Amino acid sequence: MKERTLVIIKPDGVERNLIGKIIDYYERGGLKITAMKMVRADKALVGRHYPEDDEYMTTLGKKSEKAGEKIKDYKAMGRKIVGWLRTYITRGPVVAMVLEGTNAIQRVREITGYTDPSAAEKGTIRGDLGNDSILKANKERRSAENLIHASGNREEAEREIKLWFPEMG
Ligand code: GDP
Ligand code: MG
Repeated sequence: MKERTLVIIKPDGVERNLIGKIIDYYERGGLKITAMKMVRADKALVGRHYPEDDEYMTTLGKKSEKAGEKIKDYKAMGRKIVGWLRTYITRGPVVAMVLEGTNAIQRVREITGYTDPSAAEKGTIRGDLGNDSILKANKERRSAENLIHASGNREEAEREIKLWFPEMG
């Protein structure tokens, strides 16, 4: 099924001069870029992009547990992480783009790889180019740096595309 999805190259991808390499993974994977811009995200935009809803906070807390962290309160951990995440994503310019193709949402997630670069599969962007880990990031009280944001499902994709590209709504 033809779909569209949002990808953001996070500030570490821009800082490390990886924009071209990252885009190449998606284009080689058969995705078409239909919108793209470099922006400095402000707090309001990022607050809406990563909302502090309970379910998402629990998901974030569980990712830390999966990485080997002992977590008592998932939501509390999630709230901590989302704060770090907003700081990370606003620290420098990012490249936002809309990608289109067959099963684009799932395809892009596969090409991107798992959240924790130290556990991401080789051949994926995070597995090949990522150099951070969730455990190290937690110890340093900051977000794990993993180069990319990619929408997780259809609802997220449509909401995020409207947020970053209002003209494409
Ligand atoms: P994604 O969809 O694979 O990007 O992962 P999530 O939506 O679950 O998390 C959003 C972002 O928060 C991730 O891309 C990481 O940058 C960061 N992150 C997620 N989980 C953790 C965690 O357990 N610890 C830390 N320090 N950062 C995390
Ligand atoms: Mg996500």
